[in-house]
Order: sequence, then C-alpha cells, then structure tokens
Amino acid sequence: MPYVGRTGTLTPVAHLRPVKVAGSTVARATLHNLDEVRRKDIRIGDWVVLQKAGDVIPEVVRPITERRTGDEREYEMPAACPVCGTAIVRDEGAVRHYCPNLACPARVSQEFGHFAGRGGMDIEGAGWHVLEQLLQRGLVKRRGDFYRLSVEDLEGLDRFARKSAENLHAAIQKSRRRPLERVIAALGIPQVGWTTAIELAHWLAAEIPAGDDWLPRAATHLERVASEEPGRFEEVEGIGPTVSSALAAWFGDAGPGRGVLQDLHDAGVEVELPALRTAAATAGPLAGKTVVVTGTIEGFSREEAEEAVRAAGGKPAGSVSKRTDYVVAGLGAGSKLAKAEELGIPILDAEHFRGLLAGEIE
Ligand SMILES: [Zn+2]
Repeated sequence: MPYVGRTGTLTPVAHLRPVKVAGSTVARATLHNLDEVRRKDIRIGDWVVLQKAGDVIPEVVRPITERRTGDEREYEMPAACPVCGTAIVRDEGAVRHYCPNLACPARVSQEFGHFAGRGGMDIEGAGWHVLEQLLQRGLVKRRGDFYRLSVEDLEGLDRFARKSAENLHAAIQKSRRRPLERVIAALGIPQVGWTTAIELAHWLAAEIPAGDDWLPRAATHLERVASEEPGRFEEVEGIGPTVSSALAAWFGDAGPGRGVLQDLHDAGVEVELPALRTAAATAGPLAGKTVVVTGTIEGFSREEAEEAVRAAGGKPAGSVSKRTDYVVAGLGAGSKLAKAEELGIPILDAEHFRGLLAGEIE
C-alpha cells in the first residue's frame, strides 16, 4: 500500500521480509514513484538490493533478477486513495500520483503533524499517538485548536495521566510565541520550505508596520495579495512563478490557508518579527561562509538546506576541511561530523541553523 503524504502524494513502499541493515531492522523501503519502479523494473515478490544512507529511509536500489521465479508481479498504483477512497490523480506530464482530497485524513493528520512537529511550532510531546487521538476525538479541527486545549482535554487521552497532560499543556503554551518564519513554515504551504518562509517573513515584516494585531493585519494583506495581485509574491527574494502561484492558491479566495493565520491569532499565537534588513545585511547572514550540511536536518531536504545556505549568501560544500566555517549536522551525521570535531569547526544543529539563516544568531 503506498504511503499518502502531506500534499497527497502517493509514494510506493516496498514491504520487505525484515532484514538487518547497518544495525537496524528494515521492513519497509521507499520506491519513490511509479516511474522509478518501472525504470528499475522492481516487481512484487522480487529479491532486492537495499541502500541506507545516513538516517534517511532505506531505498530499493535494484531487483536481483537472477532470483526471479516467474511469480513476480508488476506493481500498479491504486486507482483510489488507500486512506479516503478518492480517485487518484496524475497531472499531465507530472511524475507524482496524488490524492486530491484536501480533507483526506492522511493529508490532514500529516499537515497537523507538520504544524506541531519540530519543523513547525515544535510542540514537545505532540507525537503521532497524541495527534491521532486529538484529531479523532475532534479536539483539534483547525490549527489554532492546539492552543485551545485544556489540561482536562488532554487528560482524557489514552495513557495520559494528570502529569503528562500538564506537561503537554505546558509544552503547547511554550510554543505559543514563535518567530514568524517558523509559523509560516509550520503552515505546510506546498512549495514553501524554510528558505521561502524566511524570505516571506522578511517581506511581510517590511510590508506591515509592527504594532498591535500585527498577525491579523499581515493575514489580511497576504489574503488580499493572493486574491487580487498574486504576482506581487514574486517581489519576495527567491520566489518565482511556481511558488507565487502556490501561495496564491493557498491564501486565495477558497484556499485552504484562508483564515488560518487569523485563527492562530484568535487562539493566542504570537509571532516574533525578523529584524528589518538594512542594505548592508542583504548580502546574507552567511555571506562568504563555507557550510557543510551532513545528516538529515529536521524540516529540510538536503537540497533545501543547501539552497538555504546559498540564499543566505553562503557556499555549500561537500566535504569538511580547514576552510569550512560551519558544519550543520542532523540525524545520522557520520564521518563529516567527526572530522569537524577533530578540526574544531563550529557545529550547528537544525535549531541553530535556522536561527543563523534568519539572522537571529551569529
Ligand atoms: Zn485520500
């Protein structure tokens, strides 16, 4: 059964007889998309070669055709979403198959998971087990609802005693105030990763004067731009037509993002605005710096992390040397991290990396 992601994309998954790879047991591996399955000619029942790099999900490299018995079957994408049953769509010329239902439970739960997760509002302790119950019980219907939960609401969850309910409630309160770029990234707008969120935050901060009710004023502005002059999103550094139309679709008239920021404001979420950029600062917080990214950085793909380094004026590099200024190390970082430690190069975790990109820390 394929996996349905946050944007509805169906990712075919290989279910394997459990096998030990690099110290952990692997029972599932990604097949990326149908084109990839066809290109590699991977069939149901095949013996396969697996690859596991860093902490990323293992992938199927190739089938071992010599071991075929003739009983292997071609893999087909399902016609309907395995979660909600909506007919699966594949856009003309596109690689991905997706569930177009914005209310698909798989999409919704992942959107909320992203919102509450470490790449988003970072609510400690709001894992899948908690999230699913909150959604199933209708306690969270909109993003702002996280901030409307009482200790009593949480105490009703499975395996939640008073103490754990209080801890989660406290963690939610702690996440109430976040930097604007983090709140934007938490929304999970298609095409909008950390780099874009940071640029968008700077643009908004320059457009909307600071002061009371900043968030609702910014929300009104975003929604007005989305419906009336969407081309203006291209004023934002690094945003081209694709991201611009994704933003217009999300914040536009019938878009899923309509009212979301107002809801967060009503629920008591506050944003910290980025410092206004001066002409001298536009060279970027990483101007002239060489940065090596290693391991899985929460909230970024490898490409996004490197793109973010470039957008901040830095130069991403593939290997650690004396000339490296920073090493950004995520989960599964290995030899490059060790090398950085050996050379005494500053090592940043995902949190510091974001702060640095946003120009909040030096
Ligand atoms: Zn669906």
